Amino acid sequence: MILISEVGPRDGLQSTSRIMPLEAKKAWIKAEAEAGVREIEVGSFVPPSLLPQLADTADVVAYAKAIPNLNVVALVPNAKGAARAAEAGVHAMSIPFSMSETHSLKNVRKSHGEMVEEIREVAKIAKAANIHFAVGLSTAFGCTMEGPISDDQIVRLAGAAAEAGGQEFSLSDTTGYANPAQVRRLVRKVKAAIGDEKLTTLHLHNTRGLGLANVVAGLEEGITTFDASLGGIGGCPFAPGASGNIVTEDLVFMLEAMGIDTGIDLPKLLKVREIVAAALPDEPLYGFTPDAGLPLGFAP
Ligand code: ZN
Repeated sequence: MILISEVGPRDGLQSTSRIMPLEAKKAWIKAEAEAGVREIEVGSFVPPSLLPQLADTADVVAYAKAIPNLNVVALVPNAKGAARAAEAGVHAMSIPFSMSETHSLKNVRKSHGEMVEEIREVAKIAKAANIHFAVGLSTAFGCTMEGPISDDQIVRLAGAAAEAGGQEFSLSDTTGYANPAQVRRLVRKVKAAIGDEKLTTLHLHNTRGLGLANVVAGLEEGITTFDASLGGIGGCPFAPGASGNIVTEDLVFMLEAMGIDTGIDLPKLLKVREIVAAALPDEPLYGFTPDAGLPLGFAP
């Protein structure tokens, strides 16, 4: 069984122009859980002044936690955010750690060394509250400011973050630069460095249309969790008009068609789009399977 982690309510909503009302977020999360989605990143504990779209994350967490069999994840940018996430009672928290130091300095004003110390602080907070703690190695496949990041640098930083207390890791194609050969190579190297069981997840974007090809490469290297966003919502800030995250519906279709169990009821999942479309009428929803419909005889 492969775990699909829905990140739309966080990665998708953080870049929409319109703010999705709390009630719509709740309806979206509930409907996805009912379709069989077992993990959702429901928001981010960044200062509300920076991301007003996610200012209600604590309320969303409180609601989502009451849904049975749903793993409730939130993104935390630093120790301050981790303390708020712990207070809200998330099941898991995840911190982005940019593999490009230029991007890290621009985005969170921290060098790599300073980020490792921040990860150490977040790990302490998570441990004290008995919360699962993941580190997302972002811009791992390339950065819009630095270009390619060397594999050696990624391996070294992943090791430092693991030593600082990261329990689980993902490689994130923040910029949509990844290709399947690169996915294969980097997953192998990072697994060899920090342990097979620690690198479980890929966070892929479909900016250049290689999202699902990259998923297959990850599957073949033993990756068991894939992040995806309903309707590929959010777009990509680096390529206006292009989809950002891989589309949850297309990912479920591909895996189920390949005979890989996701636990997700695809017809039910497709219906969830109506909730998002009604709440964000000017946001494009992507997806090939939703447009084409299910093939005749498709039985997951
Ligand atoms: Zn993303």
